[in-house]
Amino acid sequence: MRIVVVGGVAGGMSAATRLRRLDESAEIVVVERSGHVSFANCGLPYHVGGVIPRRKDLLLQTPRSLGRRFGLDVRVHAEAVDIDRDRRVVVVQDLDTGERSEIEYDAMVLSPGARPVRPPIPGIERALSLRDIEDTDAIVAGVADAASVAIIGGGFIGVELAENMRARGLAVTLIEATDQVMAPIDPELAAVVHERIQEHDVDLRLGVSAQRIGESTVRLSDGSVIAADLVVAAIGVRPDTELAARVGLRIGVRGGIEVNDRLQTSDPAIYAVGDAVEKRDSLDESAVLVPLANTANRQGRLVADAIMGRPVSDQPVLGTAIVGVFGLQVAATGWNEKRLRAARRPYQAIHIHPGSHAGYYPGADEMHLKLLTEPGTWRILGAQGVGESGIDKRIDVISTAIRGGLTAIDLAELELAYAPAFGSAKDPVNMLGWQADNIASGLVQTLQWHEVGAASAAGAVLLDVRTEKEYAEGAIPGAINIPLDHLRERMEEIPAGDVVVYCRVGVRGHTAARLLAQLGRRVRNLDGGYLTWSAGIGA
Ligand SMILES: Cc1cc2nc3c(=O)[nH]c(=O)nc-3n(C[C@H](O)[C@H](O)[C@H](O)COP(=O)(O)OP(=O)(O)OC[C@H]3O[C@@H](n4cnc5c(N)ncnc54)[C@H](O)[C@@H]3O)c2cc1C
Repeated sequence: MRIVVVGGVAGGMSAATRLRRLDESAEIVVVERSGHVSFANCGLPYHVGGVIPRRKDLLLQTPRSLGRRFGLDVRVHAEAVDIDRDRRVVVVQDLDTGERSEIEYDAMVLSPGARPVRPPIPGIERALSLRDIEDTDAIVAGVADAASVAIIGGGFIGVELAENMRARGLAVTLIEATDQVMAPIDPELAAVVHERIQEHDVDLRLGVSAQRIGESTVRLSDGSVIAADLVVAAIGVRPDTELAARVGLRIGVRGGIEVNDRLQTSDPAIYAVGDAVEKRDSLDESAVLVPLANTANRQGRLVADAIMGRPVSDQPVLGTAIVGVFGLQVAATGWNEKRLRAARRPYQAIHIHPGSHAGYYPGADEMHLKLLTEPGTWRILGAQGVGESGIDKRIDVISTAIRGGLTAIDLAELELAYAPAFGSAKDPVNMLGWQADNIASGLVQTLQWHEVGAASAAGAVLLDVRTEKEYAEGAIPGAINIPLDHLRERMEEIPAGDVVVYCRVGVRGHTAARLLAQLGRRVRNLDGGYLTWSAGIGA
C-alpha cells in the first residue's frame, strides 16, 4: 500500500508518523512545498521576537530524521501540482529543478493548510506575511533594518507579532478594522486586552483599515499616515484549496475542502485534514473553519486510523484557543455572546473576576471569566477568559466539560486540584457553576452591563453597595451608595421600586441582592459588577 501525504507539517506529519506506527509495510511519501517539514508554526512569532533565539529549535524534524525513525520518504521543495484521480496518480514538481514526476497512490492525505489573506490594498506587495520558516527569515531580516512596523490585523498572529516586535524595540502600530482585537472574545473582555497592549506602547488603531501602503508609511482609512519601515499583513487565513478545487474535489460552503466524519473528501481515496478542511461546529453542526494546531494534529492522527480501517469518527469542534498578549492569557472555547446574539440563540451570560489563586498567597492576580449557557437546559455554549495566569486551566476544564456534556450547573460539583499557590478552594470554575445554579433555581436575577441604561431609564434604583471610598473613585451615573455592611440599618434610604444592585465584581452585590429579595424587594444583581460594566461601557 502506498500513501502520499501532501503537506508535511502539523496535520500531514501527524498522519504520516501514525500511519507508520500502524503499518510497518506501507510505503509513505510526504511531499512538502516549502523547504522544511515538521516545523513549529506556532513558535514562529517568538523567533521574530528573540524569545526562541535559535532558528533550529523551530525545526522539530528533518527529512533525514523522519526517514531514519519512521521510514518515511520525505521530499521538500516538492509541490503536488496535479492529481489524476482515475489513475490514482499525483504529479509532483521538484521546485529546485522544475522537473515533474508521477507517484501512484492507494490513498492520499491532503494537509495543505491555509494561506494568509492578502487584501487588494495598493502597495500590499511590500507587506510580509507569516506562515512558514521562509516568511520568518524574511521578517527577521526586515526587523534588523527597521525602526517601525505596521501590523495589519488584530487576531492571534497580529497580537503575537505586536508583542514580539516590541521586544525587538520597534515602534509598533497595530491596525484592526473592527472595534476590538481578538474576535473570539466579547468587547468587555477585549477592553482588558486593549489596555494591556497600550500599556506596552503599541499604537493601537481600532475601527480603521489600511488603505495604501507606501515606501515607509501606511495610510489609514481615517486619513492618518503612520510610519512603517516594515509592514506585516496578519489579516487571517483562508483554506488552501487550490489543488483540491482544481482536481474537482468538493469545496464546502465556507470555502474549505468538504470531508465526511472519516475525513474522506468527495473522492473516497483522497482524505483531507487540518486548516484546509471544513469542520462541524459542536453547537449547531454547521460547517466552520477552525485553523488551529490542536485540531490539525488530532485530525492527522485520526486520518491514519481511518485509512488503516480502524473505526473513527471526526468530532465537532469548539475552537478552543489561547494566546499570550504582553503577559495576559486570552482564551476562549465555544461560542461568544456576539455570535449567539447574531444567531438569535437564547443565552445567559455570567461574568466573574476571581483571583487566580488564594488571595493570601503571594502572586495572585485578577482573572476575568465569562460563561455563556443556555437558559433552561443550562448547556454550556461557550466560555472566555483574560488574566495573567490560570486562564488556560479554566478554559480547558470548561472545554472538557462541554465535550463531556456537562451543564453549567454541573461545574459547581467539579472536584478540582487545589493548594494556595495553584488555585482557590472555591475554584473559579466552581464559582461559575454556583452562579448558574443560583440563577437556574431563581435565587437571584442578574442584569448585564449593557442592560443597565435601559433599567435605569425604566425607573430602577441603582444601588452601589461598595465602600464610600470605592464609590467616590467612580460609580455608575445616578447610583446611590449604601455599603453592604450598612445595608440592614439604612434600608429605608432605598427608594421604592425595582432595584439594580452592584459592587465591584458581583459578590457583595449578590449578598445584597439576597438580603433585599428576602425583604420583598424586586432586585437584580449587576453581573460581573462595576468592573464588567466599566469595561463594557468603555469598550
Ligand atoms: C505564525 C503562526 C502561529 C500560529 N500559532 C498557533 C497557536 O499558537 N495555536 C494554534 O492552535 N495554532 C496556531 N497556528 C495555526 C497552526 O499552525 C495551524 O492550524 C496548523 O499548522 C495547521 O496544520 P495543517 O497541517 O493544516 O497546515 P500546515 O501546518 O500549515 O501545513 C501545510 C503545509 O502544506 C504545504 N503545502 C500546501 N500545498 C502543498 C502542495 N500542493 N504540495 C506540497 N506541499 C503543500 C505547505 O507548504 C505547508 O507547509 C499558527 C499558525 C501560524 C502561521
